[in-house]
Amino acid sequence: MRVAVLGAGYAGLTLARKLEQTLPNSVSLVVVDEQTEHLVQHELHRVVRRPSLANEITVDLHEVLDCEIRQARVTDVDPDAGVATLDGAETLSYDVGAVCLGAQTAFYDLPGVRDHATPLKRLDDAREIRERFLELGDGDRVIVGGAGLSGVQVAGELAEMREDSDIEVLLLEQEDAVAPAFPASFQSAVHDALVDAGVTVRTGTGVAEANADAVTLGDGTDLSMDQFVWTGGIEGSPALDADRPVVRADLRLGESTFAVGDAARVVDSDGEAVPSSAAAAIREARVAADNIGTLVEQSQGSHGEFQPRLTQYQFNVPGWLVSVGDDAVAKVGPSVLTGRAALALKTTVGAGYLGTVGAVQNAVDLVSEELDLNDVEAEHE
Ligand SMILES: Cc1cc2nc3c(=O)[nH]c(=O)nc-3n(C[C@H](O)[C@H](O)[C@H](O)COP(=O)(O)OP(=O)(O)OC[C@H]3O[C@@H](n4cnc5c(N)ncnc54)[C@H](O)[C@@H]3O)c2cc1C
Repeated sequence: MRVAVLGAGYAGLTLARKLEQTLPNSVSLVVVDEQTEHLVQHELHRVVRRPSLANEITVDLHEVLDCEIRQARVTDVDPDAGVATLDGAETLSYDVGAVCLGAQTAFYDLPGVRDHATPLKRLDDAREIRERFLELGDGDRVIVGGAGLSGVQVAGELAEMREDSDIEVLLLEQEDAVAPAFPASFQSAVHDALVDAGVTVRTGTGVAEANADAVTLGDGTDLSMDQFVWTGGIEGSPALDADRPVVRADLRLGESTFAVGDAARVVDSDGEAVPSSAAAAIREARVAADNIGTLVEQSQGSHGEFQPRLTQYQFNVPGWLVSVGDDAVAKVGPSVLTGRAALALKTTVGAGYLGTVGAVQNAVDLVSEELDLNDVEAEHE
């Protein structure tokens, strides 16, 4: 019997590690990813300002997984048949599987945006954003389109990188608030942190199109720009025809297949839409691991003729955290923290995650680099 995990991001890696511990030895587990390294995407914006962080936020999959790892691009999935197509040619059949392929940047067919903007999804994007920004000078303007988690955080990094120059960092958001998918108290604290960092924030302002020198807004106004970063939204994996299918709280996408993380639009057991986030992907993966285990047991006859009861995912994260340059905003329960305490918390959460997926050295290095512990150690020597 074969269980397949397609994608080794937050959802896939968390799921695969759980399954390694829980599946019977008779079941073979295969993980497929187009990369050989897991990327800690929620720290990707940091690489724009501090390229050396790339080492801490990439984890060799062979170091943290014991199962079979296939490096291949998943080009199609048939969730009912339990078949994935790899690299457009080979088929991989599985008895139970999970689609954890994440999402890709959505350009919504806005004319010129794909051609003139840099997205922020992979390390190469972060490096390109950095290189282009370093070519700017006084009076230039960088526009960041979209103020979700990635847009807010990259705008904060760019604002810090200006040092004494008067480059404008302009963050545009078509909704009426930054971080639109999140609670109001978090939104207003993030807005204040952006303004304090020197970011110009315009909400209720959608991008309609772009050319090499300007972005045209929904109301027809042209805004000149010298660099354009696009963080305006996500769409599904090409393997799912760019769709993010809706899955209910049992995360079941088909007879033998689950969908976890950004790959799907998850509706939880309270009927609430779950915001796409690393925090949710990790927690969904734990539910998917339970449910995959249940289907494996069923196929081995443990549940007789009865349909087994699957675990339901309820969205419940302890809080939300973003960095805004050298500052950070943390919403923990009803409280909102900012400043060094929030930044330390963010680093600790990132390191905690790395520790959970077995990347302990990366965790130590991340904490040292983010909290400048190397400098502290050097000062004490
Ligand atoms: C700059 C930035 C900052 C963010 N900040 C936060 C934050 O502060 N907090 C938070 O909770 N979330 C944050 N997010 C969102 C978070 O990173 C995503 O929600 C999260 O990565 C989703 O996890 P996932 O496992 O579903 O997908 P991913 O982490 O994207 O993993 C998908 C995996 O599938 C692989 N893959 C993709 N397509 C294929 C294919 N066709 N074939 C084979 N393999 C494939 C990829 O290589 C990858 O390993 C941020 C995102 C960005 C970009």
